[in-house]
This record gives sequence, structure tokens and C-alpha cells, in this order.
Amino acid sequence: MSTWAVLVAAGRGERLGLDQPKAFANLGGDPLLAESLRRLDDSGWVDAIVVVAPAGWEEPAILLAEELGCGKVSACVAGGAERADSVRNGLAEVPEDAIAVLVHDAARPLVSDEVVGRVLAPLSEGWDGVVPGLPVTDTLKRVSEDGTVGETVSRDGLWAVQTPQAFPAEVLRRALASHPGATDCAGSVEAAGGRVKVVPGDERLLKVTTADDLAKIEGWL
Ligand code: C5P
Repeated sequence: MSTWAVLVAAGRGERLGLDQPKAFANLGGDPLLAESLRRLDDSGWVDAIVVVAPAGWEEPAILLAEELGCGKVSACVAGGAERADSVRNGLAEVPEDAIAVLVHDAARPLVSDEVVGRVLAPLSEGWDGVVPGLPVTDTLKRVSEDGTVGETVSRDGLWAVQTPQAFPAEVLRRALASHPGATDCAGSVEAAGGRVKVVPGDERLLKVTTADDLAKIEGWL
């Protein structure tokens, strides 16, 4: 088996204001986690999946995978305090001989096979990481805590990046060990000196943060 997906779902999602973690918020009658799990399991690019669940929610996550018939799920482990800790816990379940790792946020349920293919394909050209992104279109301002605009920032060359993010397995393992503090996996790889490529992302890879995001995604389903 060569391409492993690490599906990180261990965030608390406090801004949703629910009793259960974000991965178990209701999306069209199923837990949010179900959508990305089903899509990655169906993907011809993905050989095996590790689910990283909130601590204490491993059992419901395993049951969900079984219920959905997701036969590629190889392990379900508890996440850590920060996203990078969760990714590391997931990566520990990926065997040494894995070639590529795809790290995806369960909070972005509408992952498509097209975008999975787009991030995995350039790895064969020697990139250390490939991430989907969209050029920033809004005007950007740096604002102080009291709401005063400090400056308008040029958006030239600025991209908003998403997941799934693809890496050669060894590159990601080493980068997370040496540079764990970045906000995404690609940030760790960049900090470790790796070359990361951005490919076109997808508006529908919106990350669920608020109840409005859930409603918007439910409308797209
Ligand atoms: O918090 P945020 O929505 O930015 O998190 C992005 C993804 O990382 C989510 O899918 C969330 O479940 C996951 N995460 C995690 N462990 C953490 C924090 C976030 O698995 N400690």
C-alpha cells in the first residue's frame, strides 16, 4: 500500500457551540466526519486511511467507519492538543513503507477525487509538498485590536490554502519532528527547507467553522 490518508478530526470546534466535537456535528443527517471519510474511502488514489478522532471519541469514529462500509480505514487514534499533534499521532499509524501521505481536515467535508489527484500527481516530479489553494480576492488590511486600520496589504501573490495536502511520507515525518509549530503541515515542510507547490483548490473545500458554514455546505450537498 502506498498512499495513506490521515483524516484529522480531533478539533473541538468551539465556535459551533455544540455539546459534541465538530467532527460529529450534523451534516445532512450524518456526522460531519462521514462525508470526507466516505469520499476518501471511495477515492481510487487512496489505499488506506487513518482517522484521528477527538480523545474519547475513537469508538464512535470506528463504528461510523464500519457503518459506512469504509474498508480502507486501518486505524483510528486520538488526536492531540494542536492540529500538528493530531497529524503526528495519525502519522505514527502509517507504515514505514508508505510512499505518499495525504493530510485532510475532516472540517472540509467536500473533498473531491479531482483535487486529490491534483495534489498527489506533482509528488512524482520531486516536490516536498503539494497543497490546493485559491488566490486571495478580497482586499487585505492589517488592523489593530481597537479596529484601526494600520495598512492595506498587497494581495499580489497571496493564496489561501486548503487541504488535502500531499507529501512524501518521509518528508512529512521529518518536518513535523523538527518544525512542529506551523499552522499547517506544508508550513512545517517549508520551515524544514522543503519545496512546496500550490495547485488550484476548490471553493467547496470550505472549512466548517460556524453554523453558517455547515448550512452553506448542506446546501451544496
Ligand atoms: O480548528 P480547525 O477547524 O482549524 O482545524 C482544522 C482540522 O484539524 C479539523 O478537521 C480539526 O478536527 C483538526 N484538528 C485536530 N486536532 C486539533 C485541532 C484541529 O485534529 N487539536
